[in-house]
Amino acid sequence: MSTFKKTPKYQIEAIRKKIQDKYKDLSELHLIDIFKKTEAEYNELHKYYGKDEEQREHLESLRDSIYELSKTKNEIVQKIRNDFFAKKKDAHSKLSFFERLRVPHEQVRQESNLKEFNQRIISQEEIDLDNQINKLRSQRNSFVEIDYSDLISRRKHLYHELAVIKKMLGEFRKENAKALLNGVLKKNRLRSSTLKKQEKSKLEFNSFCPYCSEPIVKNELVLDHIFPVAKGGQSTAQNTILVCFSCNSKKSDKTLRQFCKLNQLDYEEICNKLEQLGKVI
Ligand SMILES: [Zn+2]
Repeated sequence: MSTFKKTPKYQIEAIRKKIQDKYKDLSELHLIDIFKKTEAEYNELHKYYGKDEEQREHLESLRDSIYELSKTKNEIVQKIRNDFFAKKKDAHSKLSFFERLRVPHEQVRQESNLKEFNQRIISQEEIDLDNQINKLRSQRNSFVEIDYSDLISRRKHLYHELAVIKKMLGEFRKENAKALLNGVLKKNRLRSSTLKKQEKSKLEFNSFCPYCSEPIVKNELVLDHIFPVAKGGQSTAQNTILVCFSCNSKKSDKTLRQFCKLNQLDYEEICNKLEQLGKVI
């Protein structure tokens, strides 16, 4: 039976917001790392949480045992006391009339008997019972000393933390999946090697470098991105063209217009040529 109050909904929201802010600038990898650590700590505390119920039962059984032992001890003491006084009474009654006169007054006699009894009462049985009771008491005290409520509230916090990180990781994954899906769905987005093969197959009709108009040496073909990759150009059939090695290295990450200007080439003419080849400028 748990004695902990349920956290109100608005408080949970505030906790979530706080945790979310704490992690908002972290990358997916960092979050995965934190998630693992938090989960390990949570599992460790969960053990105590499970034990909490056990401890309560154990404490109750200890209390019952102590009660039973104390009862037994009192019964034994009472029995010894009864036996002792019965013997004393018996011994007293066996005295002759004159002997009884010599025995001190009844009250004094009883007091001395009680004193004698109290000295004798510490029997081995009683000492054993006392030891057992003390042992159980110290066991019970050591359990009471552990503050489980602290552990449980920490566990609760970790539970919220895990939920938030999990959600954040889910969002990361969703974004990654979206990007992947976009890549797959863009049918015109191809790998450079495929593009190069496609361009090569067209080459017999187009054996001059479209930039410098020099004849292309077949093993010196280079696939050029008309709008450079460095500036966001994509590997699509419309943006790639086979050119000579020399032009490709001169163009590098320049735009077509920059490249033409620097090499005194006719930009308009090259654009026309490229458009005829199905390129988009
Ligand atoms: Zn060229």
